Amino acid sequence: MFDLVILGGNIVDGTGKKAYRADVGIAGERIEAIGDLGQAETHRVIVAHGLTVSPGFIDSHAHSDGMLLLDPQHANGIRQGITTELLGQDGLSYAPLSPANYRMYSRYLAGLLGLPPADLDMHNVTAFRANYHKKCAVNTAYCVAHGAIRVETLGFRDVPLVGDALKKAKRLVHESIEQGAVAFSTGMSYYPNCWSTTAELVELCKEAHAAGALYVTHLRDVNTDRGFGGGGVPEAIEIGRRSGIRVHFSHFRTLPEEAGQIAPKIAPIDKAKKSGLDCTLELYPYPIGSSFLPMVLPPKEQEGGPDAILKRLRDPARKQAIAKLIDGYEARSIAEFVLTHTPNTPDAEGLSLPDFAKKRGKSMGEAVRQLLVDNDLQVGFRGAPPASVATWRQLGRDQMELLSRPDYMVGSDAIPVGNLCHPRAYGCFPRFLGRLRKQMPGIMSLETMVQRMTDNPARRFGLTKRGRVQKGYFADLAVFDADRIIDNATFDDPKQFPTGIPYVLVNGQVAVDNERCTGVLAGQAVP
Ligand SMILES: [Zn+2]
Repeated sequence: MFDLVILGGNIVDGTGKKAYRADVGIAGERIEAIGDLGQAETHRVIVAHGLTVSPGFIDSHAHSDGMLLLDPQHANGIRQGITTELLGQDGLSYAPLSPANYRMYSRYLAGLLGLPPADLDMHNVTAFRANYHKKCAVNTAYCVAHGAIRVETLGFRDVPLVGDALKKAKRLVHESIEQGAVAFSTGMSYYPNCWSTTAELVELCKEAHAAGALYVTHLRDVNTDRGFGGGGVPEAIEIGRRSGIRVHFSHFRTLPEEAGQIAPKIAPIDKAKKSGLDCTLELYPYPIGSSFLPMVLPPKEQEGGPDAILKRLRDPARKQAIAKLIDGYEARSIAEFVLTHTPNTPDAEGLSLPDFAKKRGKSMGEAVRQLLVDNDLQVGFRGAPPASVATWRQLGRDQMELLSRPDYMVGSDAIPVGNLCHPRAYGCFPRFLGRLRKQMPGIMSLETMVQRMTDNPARRFGLTKRGRVQKGYFADLAVFDADRIIDNATFDDPKQFPTGIPYVLVNGQVAVDNERCTGVLAGQAVP
């Protein structure tokens, strides 16, 4: 007796193998049988004639850490067919943090992650995982965040991690991985992460490697003098070489100014792979990124965390100088920012930063300062897509070609915060499977694309019995119409669900039923 049988679908099993027609029988959390189950006894049948049945998508890079705690239904993810998300990305998350540090750091990160309840226990990874386990719609895996490790050992300060603090940090990394973290992650555009040196990261990665985890990195572009080779790819490769750890590059793709130039971009990584470094990469199918505004404050203005930052931003004796510093801070091209989330300044949402500054009759630096003060630092932004549609199209082709490499997977980089969030939070996976696959036939088969979204990340991050439609595997499944699947989220109307994904199952439970969220919260903290 099955709980559910999916009848007559085309099985794209996640391994890359050619699709075949079969029924899928589910009992409890697992796939119990694949074959001809037309006569089998079952509580429920989903008729999937003409539909594709694939493993649920595994989002290798999502910033849902806060929003899953506020809105566990997580429609923006589950409606895309995502059934597992890798949290703790860019070294920006909540564990391991003491109660006071959690309150401080979650406030600093609110423009990126939203603002979850202040009283949650995040003191270690076991506690972190318990906050999500069977409490939200998707499965979650955790990359232990370098930012949290630094806050917990040194506070929010620009000081070297050495001596006893380093010993403590290494112990925390080790414990975190023992408690289920699958990777150690860092984001070297962000604080306190970018106050570190390459030497610190090598030490922490040695520990993570010894405990069996990967290094997941958003490459350094701040404090580049502290990074081997000026940060970026050379630093990540050096860290991999010296620590022995496997390296995973976050959101690695061509930027608008590099459109069509995949070869020089990827060459140093291929060279490192040839010399024995174990590397994988991930990307999302959009031309520009998104992040949170506190990152644009110059390094010195970051010290001390939210209270200290806001005190300086309000200080009549300093505020003008800080606004000038922001205007002159060349590491970030703030003129391209579009504001996505400004909860206390609703008239700013959707405006470009130059337009908002003009509206207020202020310089851009002063506008940034005022926005941060008025919103208690909780401000999100995204970039502006290229003016040339041809550039945009070329970037799409680059993304498809990169994804066709066997070392690539998909990471949405979703930031589901704010009324005008980056559309990747609602459209990433169906954009690849629908729009780009149809625009560029011949680069990858459907089976190959699904492999990059399922089995590839499951194997890389050690997610046991996930990522395949196979007997004995967890019944995390997406049922979609390969002809109709398409993203509907756009930059001007981002909170639109995709079309063509009628059913999504998480651990055998129907989470999306006929394109409607069911409210079932069957997601587990994995692996
Ligand atoms: Zn990210």
